[in-house]
Formats: sequence, structure tokens, C-alpha cells
Amino acid sequence: MHLRLPVLWFGLLAMTSSSFAAGPNVILINCDDLGYGDLGCYGAKDIRTPHLDRMAAEGTRFTDFSVTSALCTPSRAALMTGKYPGRVGLATGVLRPDSQTGLAGSETTLAEVMRQTGHATGCIGKWHLGFLPGMRPMDQGFDSYYGVLHNLDKFETVVFEKEGGMPVLRGDVVEKRPAVPAEMTGLYTAEALKFIEANRTRPFFLYLGHAMPHLPFDASPKFKGKSQRGLYGDAVEELDDSTGQILDKLRMLGLAETTLVIFTSDNGPERKTPGTAAPLSGTKHTVHEGGLRVPCLAWWPGKVPAARVCDEFVSTLDLLPTFASLTGAQPPAVLDGFDQSAVLRGEPGAKSPRKTLYSLYGLKQRRLESMREGRWKLHLHPSARLFDLGKDLQETADLSTQHPDVVQKLSNAADAIRKETLGQLSGTP
Ligand code: MG
Repeated sequence: MHLRLPVLWFGLLAMTSSSFAAGPNVILINCDDLGYGDLGCYGAKDIRTPHLDRMAAEGTRFTDFSVTSALCTPSRAALMTGKYPGRVGLATGVLRPDSQTGLAGSETTLAEVMRQTGHATGCIGKWHLGFLPGMRPMDQGFDSYYGVLHNLDKFETVVFEKEGGMPVLRGDVVEKRPAVPAEMTGLYTAEALKFIEANRTRPFFLYLGHAMPHLPFDASPKFKGKSQRGLYGDAVEELDDSTGQILDKLRMLGLAETTLVIFTSDNGPERKTPGTAAPLSGTKHTVHEGGLRVPCLAWWPGKVPAARVCDEFVSTLDLLPTFASLTGAQPPAVLDGFDQSAVLRGEPGAKSPRKTLYSLYGLKQRRLESMREGRWKLHLHPSARLFDLGKDLQETADLSTQHPDVVQKLSNAADAIRKETLGQLSGTP
């Protein structure tokens, strides 16, 4: 009898926690600078991605999924808040390790939304939304953090030279120095598996922000020299293996039917790297589709249709309201995202509520700006050029003189979003 009591007590606890929470577990895997054309299921012939191809076959592959900005910090600000990055003061530029600015603690993040329904919240990997107390993951709704808060390139490493190299943090404590690019995918994957295992009996939300294949891309010895696209391809093949391990862990623990996994990227491929956005044109640091449109796979066996290719217009802005809808959480009142849960589930006749997307890169002379509505896309700087993405995904044939009405309409729409989200910056020429 004595032995049974703890079992009963544990059972009651488990019941309490599952009735408190609603909706699925969510794992959001965000790669860094992975291009639209870098995966087998998106057409790559020289990088093998069998696990991601299987994920696409067991789930849904989105072909029109876009970030707001082709740059790490603004893109992640939009993903984490469901708001245009200008609304949270991160419209342009990336945060360096000595930046004094970042995402304000007062903003509602994905983690804070998932916490409402009792999900354990873990952040692993790159944050890039502020490094001072009050701005870090565990100040923004995450129960735990493991990783490097920012990039691993020379602009960052130089800041930490005197301290013995770039720190890998666990919470706020330095666990290891220096961070080694070739080790990051392996370290993050091991942490992700541990997080899933530790939270197997309760609802959880895991944000996994990979360091790869951002410069300086590298791979562990097991993957180095194995792909047909050099070290870049090796790094992507390791990301594929990492995702395979995560999905296998979910299957093994019996969590596949209760866990939504999203795999995506923060922006298109870096210039002058082997990364590709084919068949799109443009790269990171542009407002072309190749900078903004990224791979997106959704996997949730039994809930998200298998072997589906979805052409609906979706953005990372939509993740926060969609997750809130799936769990029954209350999203913040001001949002630029839409609930895409019906599209995600493939409900009959479901259409994306998203009609438009605004994008900004840089200010003043380097400013690039675009406004999309459905198939139409207007580039506003340096001059107005209009493209029909329905026929011209590469944005080569300027139709602005043929459709001045569309140019005017999109130009007005961009003005409105700029005024609303950029505040004082909206008047910047
Ligand atoms: Mg990036």
C-alpha cells in the first residue's frame, strides 16, 4: 500500500497539469540564413536532406512563407512578437554584443503566450534580440536558455577576445568558451533532446535557433566533406540530421501526435556564399523574394495534412497568433500577424487571412523597401518597380507603367504601415 501512494499522487499531478494546459507541444526550429533552395524538398540536388524531405512527406511544405526582413535581428523580432519589427524598435540593423538596445521586456513574446497555457518554455541557440538584463530569453518568458546569444562572426568574437573567447551560456552563466562554430549544431541538438525528454509528461514549447548555416558556417567531423556543396552543404546536412533526431525522439516518446514542429529560416542566404534561394532572385540584405521567402515545413501527424504542398501566403508574423489559437492562449491586442490554424490543419476551403506584407532593409541611402499584396509586389526604393509574382517570381519584368493604379495602391499601403510602425523613422527619406 505504501508504495502505491506516490504513484497515485503522481497520477493526480499529471492530470492536474494536463487539464490546466491546452493544445499541442510546439517546437519551432529557426535556421540562420538558410536559403529557399537549400533543401532537397525545395529542389536542391547537391545537399542531401532525407529527414527534412521525410518531414515534408509526413507534413506540409509551404511555398509562400516569408519573413518581414532579410536580416537576423528584425526578422527574429517579428517572429518572437507577431509585430512588424519597427513596432518594437528593431526595424533595421543587427544587434552587436555591445548593443545597448534590444527587445523591451514589456513586449509579449511567443514564450509568454505559451506560458499562459502551462507550457514549459525552452530557448536554445541564437537569440539576437538584446543582451542586457531585461532583454534576454529568460527575461522574456523562457524558463531556460542555452546557447550563444548572438552571431559567431568576427564582429562578435572580437568583443570577447580579452575574456577568453565567445561564451556559450546556460541561463546567465558561462558554461564554455570559446563557442566553436563546428560544434554548435551538435550542442544545440543534444540540448533539444534533453529538453524534450525532461518535459515529456507536460506540455512544452521549444524555440531552437540554430547558428547554422550563417557565416562562419562549419560542420562536425561526421558531416565535414560529405555534401556535394562544400562546407555549406555539410552544415545543412547536419541541420537535417539534427531535425531527424528531434522527430525520432518525439516518435519514440509517443509525442508525435501531440507535437507541432515547424522548421524554417530567419532570412534568405548570405551574399557570396554557396547558399541558394533558387528559383527566387535576391539574397539576404535585399527585399527580393530570395531574401524574404524561406523554407517552412509543418509536421504534426494526424493534425497537419501529410504530403501537402501549401501555396497560401503566410509569414513568421503569423506564428504567434496561430500558436495562441492552437493552445487557447490570449494573444496581445496589437498584432501584425494572423491566425493561420485553419490553413495549417488544412480545413476544407481554408484561405490565408494574410493579404499584404511590408518589408524594410536599412534606412537613408541604403534603404530598400517593398510592399506586397497577393501576387503583386512593389519595390519602393530606389525607384518604384512593380512585379507580378504569379508570373514572375524572379522579379525581373517591371510592370509599373502598365499598372499605375496598383503602384498607387501599394504605395499608399506602405505609407500607412510605415507611419504606423516606424514612428519618427517614417519620415526618413
Ligand atoms: Mg539570419
